[in-house]
Amino acid sequence: MAPERNRRSQSLYRAPSGARGTARQATDGPQVSSGISRGARCKIFAGAKVVLPTGIVDGGRVIVDGARIAGSAPADAEVLDVSGHWLVPGFIDVHNHGGGGASFTSGTVEEVLKGVHTHRLHGTTTVVASTVTGDMDALAQRAGLLSELAEQGDIAGIHFEGPFISPCRKGAHSEELLRDPDPAEVRKLIDAARGQAKMVTLATELPGGVDSVRLLAEHGVIAAIGHTDATYEQTVEAIEAGATVATHLYNAMPTLGHRSPGPIAALLEDERIIVELIDDGTHLHPASLQLAFHHAGADRVAFITDAMDAAGFGDGRYMLGPMEVEVSEGVARLVEGGSIAGSTLTLDRAFKRGVTVDRLPVEDVVTAVSATPARLLGLYDRVGSLEPGKDADLVILDADFALKGVMRRGEWVVEPQLG
Ligand SMILES: [Zn+2]
Repeated sequence: MAPERNRRSQSLYRAPSGARGTARQATDGPQVSSGISRGARCKIFAGAKVVLPTGIVDGGRVIVDGARIAGSAPADAEVLDVSGHWLVPGFIDVHNHGGGGASFTSGTVEEVLKGVHTHRLHGTTTVVASTVTGDMDALAQRAGLLSELAEQGDIAGIHFEGPFISPCRKGAHSEELLRDPDPAEVRKLIDAARGQAKMVTLATELPGGVDSVRLLAEHGVIAAIGHTDATYEQTVEAIEAGATVATHLYNAMPTLGHRSPGPIAALLEDERIIVELIDDGTHLHPASLQLAFHHAGADRVAFITDAMDAAGFGDGRYMLGPMEVEVSEGVARLVEGGSIAGSTLTLDRAFKRGVTVDRLPVEDVVTAVSATPARLLGLYDRVGSLEPGKDADLVILDADFALKGVMRRGEWVVEPQLG
């Protein structure tokens, strides 16, 4: 953290007089990792409604020491008064194609980092970069570039959405580049990602689909069922083979029918499946979202953005892979055919909508934007909750759930102007 910036941000707070003197000595509580310095780098966030895995603590404290959350604080720790605010863990987005005018599928390294930063400004401290359908060679090349960013810790891995999806449910994917999920080709993609492939979305009913699910599961890559025309029975078969995620449940799949329940019923009923939901007010009716949320429970829901370049940027013409997209009033649609083409959502908006429009309990929304995606990625020991030893990734929201501050690994991304 830059010391100059640090000093400036501290002056924005109203630290209660005598607060430093009353801070407890670091004599108890879990130990923080070695190598993290004490003293000036230690901050106590005090007075907020803190959302913990065990519930909401009104007037709770969270201690940040260096890059981590700590269990105790030294006497000279700085106390930051965040009363009247919510303190929640940083958001985690497992399905995101870009933002800030930049595409994760086609942008330069600098552009990808700009997209990542745009989402950080909206509270997303961990993001998986999603690609859209492309030519196999181009995707393999893309995997190389994105895997380097994952190795550096800028992104949390790669999600390949397509090309192994159904032409009947292609959404904004280029039809001529779609192909059946041949396990050998799936293998090529995950090899090109050098251990950084986290998830592949595929239509498991296509020839090679179930075998590809098995291959992904064997390699520790999440097999996500999506852009699919599968029946209920075909979906059950894919889940039995090892699929664990529903890519944007409801969108790009057959609807729930009374005689043909389709993939939605199979995905909702199985405890092994985590369902992605896009809560932007365009992709889903609130009642459909609530139905899924109440049926699966927050531990099985991951709020995603499915964002494209226009997220955090603005209306206009964009490219989504090879497809031209028009964004108008925040809704992205293909120029040809008018299909919804991703979203312009950011997770802070999804969070606020979840609480204020969908009327979900705050702690459930926190679970869906942090804990569940963290567990899905196998990162819950590092992120996904405000607990000692984890990365100091946190978001400050005001009483109306507007984003006021973002800290990632102990450094401000958005410095709050409190008071
Ligand atoms: Zn997507």
